[in-house]
Amino acid sequence: MKQRKIPLRKCVACQQMMPKRELIRVVKTPNDEMLIDLTGKKAGRGAYLCGKLSCFRLAKKSKALDRALKQPVSPDIYDALEQDFIKVEDEFIAGKEAAVDDEK
Ligand SMILES: [Zn+2]
Repeated sequence: MKQRKIPLRKCVACQQMMPKRELIRVVKTPNDEMLIDLTGKKAGRGAYLCGKLSCFRLAKKSKALDRALKQPVSPDIYDALEQDFIKVEDEFIAGKEAAVDDEK
């Protein structure tokens, strides 16, 4: 029996392996911008976080994004990303629910 493989990624904060669609991608673009990429398709080095603010805060505290993106991330950038994270969280959760509806 062949099982269909679900792509798994690791949350950089809590180290849990999760299906990609359960995670929010933070990307460092080739222009050295850091942004949240809900489409998962932007070019650049990416780091994944569970779609939970608590995980973002954990990443901020432990500087997990610095390690995942292999460059220092300033507290200002963490703060800006945190604001974006709060903004996209609802959209992200709504998107997940919509996806579940599609499978019915
Ligand atoms: Zn996590």
